[in-house]
Amino acid sequence: MGSVHVVGATVIDGSGRDPRNVGLTIENGRITRLGAPGAHGECLDAEGLTMTPGLIDAHVHLGLSSAIQPHFSFEVSAAEIAADIFATAGATLDAGFTTVRDTGGIDGGVVTAIAKGKVRGPRVLSCGPVQCQVGGHGYYGAAWEPTELWSRHHIPGLCALSMMAGNADELRRNVREAFRRGASFLKLCVTGGVVGGHDRLADTQFTVEEIAVAVQEAAARNTYVTVHAHNNQGIRNAVEAGARCVEHGTSLDEATAALMAAREVALVPTFAVVEQLLHDTAGAGLAESTRDKVKDVREQMARALAVAKHAGVRTGLGSDLIGPAQDRRGKELSLRAALETPMEALVAATRTNAEILGLSGEVGVLSPGARADLVLWNGDPLDDPELFSDPANAVLVMRGGTIVKDLR
Ligand SMILES: [Zn+2]
Repeated sequence: MGSVHVVGATVIDGSGRDPRNVGLTIENGRITRLGAPGAHGECLDAEGLTMTPGLIDAHVHLGLSSAIQPHFSFEVSAAEIAADIFATAGATLDAGFTTVRDTGGIDGGVVTAIAKGKVRGPRVLSCGPVQCQVGGHGYYGAAWEPTELWSRHHIPGLCALSMMAGNADELRRNVREAFRRGASFLKLCVTGGVVGGHDRLADTQFTVEEIAVAVQEAAARNTYVTVHAHNNQGIRNAVEAGARCVEHGTSLDEATAALMAAREVALVPTFAVVEQLLHDTAGAGLAESTRDKVKDVREQMARALAVAKHAGVRTGLGSDLIGPAQDRRGKELSLRAALETPMEALVAATRTNAEILGLSGEVGVLSPGARADLVLWNGDPLDDPELFSDPANAVLVMRGGTIVKDLR
């Protein structure tokens, strides 16, 4: 494969430095140089467009791409569930996201199908099923459906929302099973959540000793544990046990943020899903009562973001979109830009998320040696961060040096 020179674009490289007008050369799927184009190779004219690294969403649920309650009531066929997952994977690329971290719901077959190029989609890192305690967050069965039947909702190779553990030994078995099915990290629910009937946001779930079992198993595989956590006691339990990352962090206080910073535990706030559940609960295939649980979350999470940043916590970015409407995941950047600056939102979605995913220098940055993942935007997203919300503004998307979307 010869070299390609992208010329004429304003380049925002993901590191936080000011935009500059510079050419970018790609060879064999990687960026080889920033500067004037060489004499040989093909030129891609990007005059008037803005280039960013391919975006990274650190919290997605590709496996929850069908209407949620019908999906878990056996009203949607495996064929439709697969079609919905693959449609979301393609729409994710079209929105400018070239790497995602799936925090629960797909089985390893989906990762393989995308990696082999059989289905359009971003690079996917997955935890497979979420690890939950019996009666905890992550159980979407009918009210009186026995817990033992929950695993019947798994479709091997395609989707597996969560696994239930009654004690530390069962958790150890379940995480080993998740790794067997292709997980590259683990996610545990250590507090209650918004979606689901049997738990409250203030509940803690799993003990420190139980969480430590998952941390031990993750360390044995040279990987890490992230946790779903809304309240401070749950976060502290997880940090104490050795978790590396916290999802949501809704009511994070100063003391807990200081602990996270000291232990170098990252935070991934999730604003887009909150907007989604406030404005289109039915669209996600969920009961209207879900909205009541999410009402106070928006303001709390905005405060938690400020607390985390003030304490020096590494703060990434995740949309957490669920259900069929997952085509506008760039909304997460627009929402964050309103709470911080557009540049801070972009850095969270690129360099910082790459650090959290363990892909620092590989993705999330436009610099020599990195994979050639990039987006050409129709306009300047630093001036108008709403551009991120509409996939139509991602004029060209390249993943690993291959153009995967081109509206020119
Ligand atoms: Zn989630």
